[in-house]
Amino acid sequence: MDYSELHRDSVVIDTHCDTLKCLMPVFTRPRDSMWADRSKVGMVTRSGLGHIDVPRLIEGGVTCQVFAISGERGRAPSHSLRTAMEMIGRFYDECEAGQGAMAPVTRSGEITKAKKAGKVAAMLSIEGCDVLEGSVEALRVYHRLGVRMVGLVHSIRNELADGVADRRTGGRLSEMGAQAVQELNRLGMIVDVSHLSDEGFWDVMELTKAPVIATHSNARAVCDHPRNMTDDMIRALADNGGVMGMNFAPAFVHPTKATLEALVDHIDHIVGLVGPDHVGLGSDFDGIPSTPEGLEDATKMPGITRELLKRGYGEGDVRKILGGNHLRLIKRVAG
Ligand SMILES: [Zn+2]
Repeated sequence: MDYSELHRDSVVIDTHCDTLKCLMPVFTRPRDSMWADRSKVGMVTRSGLGHIDVPRLIEGGVTCQVFAISGERGRAPSHSLRTAMEMIGRFYDECEAGQGAMAPVTRSGEITKAKKAGKVAAMLSIEGCDVLEGSVEALRVYHRLGVRMVGLVHSIRNELADGVADRRTGGRLSEMGAQAVQELNRLGMIVDVSHLSDEGFWDVMELTKAPVIATHSNARAVCDHPRNMTDDMIRALADNGGVMGMNFAPAFVHPTKATLEALVDHIDHIVGLVGPDHVGLGSDFDGIPSTPEGLEDATKMPGITRELLKRGYGEGDVRKILGGNHLRLIKRVAG
């Protein structure tokens, strides 16, 4: 099978993008062309703005795209719950506007079904539990609304934990953070450790009874950035049965020259460390100001398959990395 056939035939899962944020006027940055007018354009038509819309996901062979919702990022949790509700509303509007081209999913079987039907599967995640506004009980409602991956923080400290931007104090999870992990385990929602401080990560690993995900984090040994994971953290994630999605943010890929090849260097490192069962994709498209060379938008995803084959990965391992690992994790935790 050549790379493009293999890519089309594989389940490809991208566990993080900020496209919904680009569509919300509350997040719009009008002077930035990437965000300009996207709330009007929506996701259904090919716009050329930013990195993701339904036609580009289809062209890039993306089977399942995870869409993050969050509150406004800042020290003050201003209207986070309301913003989250509006984003979820917009998510389902976009699924309907696509006349079936994009199907909301909550389970692994729905992802494979969408692939067979030639549709893009779309899953909701939370990036930062500021959107709970202090209520762990609200997780039950988010679960009913279709959210299946939940990050405790968005780099900045909240009621649950410290993020990487507040790691100076070395804080672990708060009591509420520990309760949230327990509730996420009970509900069958996947705990997302991206954006957590290292101490918070280790606390989650002690508390969780289910495998976790790092929806969009790379290897710190390859690119030294606090948003990336140390080798010890990667080993712990693998021991727990978890998966990490490779983030395309240039600063997390390479200190000076971010390219598709440099991104695959992270995959090589992780596979060398823990084998091929714990790495996947988590682009962060539409949340990053620029992209690596060769990964300019969702249509460029097949380039990763080409590079993996070029480096000697077997078809089975390529399928795992493109989405098989994420699919296994979703099946195990969410069903
Ligand atoms: Zn993020």
